[in-house]
Amino acid sequence: MSDVTGRIEAELGKPIAQADNKELYRALLGFTNKAAGEKTEHDTKKKLYYISAEFLIGKLLSNNLINLGLYEEVKEALSQSGKNMAEIEEIETEPSLGNGGLGRLAACFVDSIATLGLPGDGVGLNYHFGLFKQSFKDNVQVETPDEWRSGDNWLIDTNKGYDVVMGGKTYHSRMYDLRVTGYEGVTNALHLFDMDTVDESIVKDGISFDKTDIAKNLTLFLYPDDSDDDGRKLRVYQQYFMVSNAAHLIIDEAKAKGSKLNDLYDYAVIQINDTHPTMVIPELIRILRDEEGIDFDAAVEIVSKCCAYTNHTILAEALEKWPIKYLKEIVPQLVPIIEILDDRVRRKYSDESVAIIDSEDRVHMAHIDIHYGFSVNGVAALHTDILKNTELKNFYDLYPEKFNNKTNGITFRRWLLACNPELSDFIISKIGKDFLKHSDKLADFEKYLGDGAVLDKLLEIKAGKKRELCEYLKETRGIEIDPESIFDIQSKRLHEYKRQQLNLLWCIKRYQQIKAGMKPQRKVTVMFASKAAPAYIIAKDIIHAILCLQEIVNNDPDVKDYLQILMIDNYNVTLAEKLIPACDISEQISLASKEASGTGNMKYMLNGALTLGTEDGANVEIHERVGDGNIYIFGMRSPEVIKKYANASYVSRDYYDKDEILKKAVDFLIGDEMVKVGNEKQLKRLYDELLKKDWFMTFPDFQAYSGTREMAYSEYENRKGWAKKMGINIVRAGFFSSDRTIEEYNRDIWKLK
Ligand SMILES: *Cc1c(COP(=O)(O)O)cnc(C)c1O
Repeated sequence: MSDVTGRIEAELGKPIAQADNKELYRALLGFTNKAAGEKTEHDTKKKLYYISAEFLIGKLLSNNLINLGLYEEVKEALSQSGKNMAEIEEIETEPSLGNGGLGRLAACFVDSIATLGLPGDGVGLNYHFGLFKQSFKDNVQVETPDEWRSGDNWLIDTNKGYDVVMGGKTYHSRMYDLRVTGYEGVTNALHLFDMDTVDESIVKDGISFDKTDIAKNLTLFLYPDDSDDDGRKLRVYQQYFMVSNAAHLIIDEAKAKGSKLNDLYDYAVIQINDTHPTMVIPELIRILRDEEGIDFDAAVEIVSKCCAYTNHTILAEALEKWPIKYLKEIVPQLVPIIEILDDRVRRKYSDESVAIIDSEDRVHMAHIDIHYGFSVNGVAALHTDILKNTELKNFYDLYPEKFNNKTNGITFRRWLLACNPELSDFIISKIGKDFLKHSDKLADFEKYLGDGAVLDKLLEIKAGKKRELCEYLKETRGIEIDPESIFDIQSKRLHEYKRQQLNLLWCIKRYQQIKAGMKPQRKVTVMFASKAAPAYIIAKDIIHAILCLQEIVNNDPDVKDYLQILMIDNYNVTLAEKLIPACDISEQISLASKEASGTGNMKYMLNGALTLGTEDGANVEIHERVGDGNIYIFGMRSPEVIKKYANASYVSRDYYDKDEILKKAVDFLIGDEMVKVGNEKQLKRLYDELLKKDWFMTFPDFQAYSGTREMAYSEYENRKGWAKKMGINIVRAGFFSSDRTIEEYNRDIWKLK
């Protein structure tokens, strides 16, 4: 009996052959956590704390076993007793602790930090239901709680906690840990704070609950609906709870290692992931002053040397500004501190736009981070340039030395090795497995792209992954699709700036052309997978329109050989892992200047999909690396877009009036066919939004988008040529490994080890 079999059976208390899959899953949790625990390192002096409201980690069983180097052995041990690893993996529920790219980035980062052997833990919240679960009924999105913790899960109760004072009441926290395994690296921790009093039973019809009962609701959901005061206040409660716990943990750990706290920056560096954890700055200042007896000026200086801020967006509505009256109610202990911080800024700089508290008594969270942190980074080259030259120009002029770029990345372990073993095995068979840890080595595969047999193999692997997706959709959703069709996929959060509505307009256009007798050479299956924030009305209208179109198109015998449209429910990491390896064309069509980076674009590229995209976010850097012939770029460039906003010169109606094809597609939204299957009010609202506003400028890009998309489809027919393009995308994806990103963070910001 192998050692692994013995250890699993010790967890089980019986032979593997006699256990059911549920029991095996529980035993593997215990086994894996123990194996991971053996790789925990002793604390080094300086440590990173990555604080984030989201960690979209995905399922962990296979990921952890792969990282620990145990996957093959475990699979073998199970199969010797007639058990199937894949079936056991199905039992795991995906931890629903994130929303989209920002949370997934945090997850890739903790993986890379542990892989590189760096001392760094994540800090966040243990949401009981996380992000809602999405389904569709009558062509609209329905939200229900995601009970991801209902079965056995990875959380380890540490029995540690702190007192946190909010709204004049004292709450006690409990810290749960998830082990973060590095690939052939060390094990770090993800600390998730929670409260024992939280009560899941207060959630009624869908995802609604009493937003004022903090003791019961605090950690129920990620991003509670902020369309009313109570919802916004709950977000402030969550944020303060997260950072107050983080601050106490950081100070405890530093003291345990001998810090006198006037040297805290030698023990702790804090990465503030977007503005949600910003209150950690005034909170640390408060603790150092009130609980540790350090004078205020010194406390400000110490904390400023610990904190670094990552900006994720230039969308004004996403930059948090909390009314000071919320803070007075919830965290009165921080208000005098924030006022002093604001006062100091005002004494130094007369420019009102860099103040912390504005004339409407709102606190600009990002401004606290920029003035009182030592580093400000954007997440792709174009994004950082826009921060420096436009959005945060007034700050860049004050602190040019603080600004730096860290282009996002993805972990190749999850997004290649685990989700596409066929492709990674093939690459390994040619160049070995070094590239999994040293991603630049992927370039060694390029010399094989002249070999026809290699290109055939790439096509064969892709075809296999497409068939797998077909089976998966059939099994899980009863959907049938044609594996011979082109798989054109847009999977990401639903947001107007990401422009699912542009893709929708194209789908309508193609439907109308097919009905008019213009039959395309090959069938296309257009897949969407997106959740809309529950209070985001237009986003839900876009989902509604896509679902209506899906019903029309998929039931029309005239088009069934040419076009299929699918809105796949409940996009999450597990679904992403199935969609991405099967994709031919990756839709990355945000309005130029609006997508800070994107990481979906990188995952698709790494798996051999070709990008159809705008010159936006990290698409720019993908384009630079693959060259014109291996990517489909279209549309306005960001300077043009920024100019259009600046002089308010864009009128969508002008484009509609000039372009007959566009006009017909837009009019279809409120035509009889759509109204028959949909809700006229919602469809009309979307139609009006486009015709009267179109804030994200879909119309000006429509023609270029259509033309480029159709060019991509025709080039797809040259299969060898296409395979070569796929290969170039794969081999040039090395730069987009999150290991590279983390090495840069460490070199320029954290300076660990
Ligand atoms: C990668 C990922 C995202 C981010 O996608 P973008 O296209 O960069 O917005 C969102 N959700 C999930 C589940 C992901 O895996």
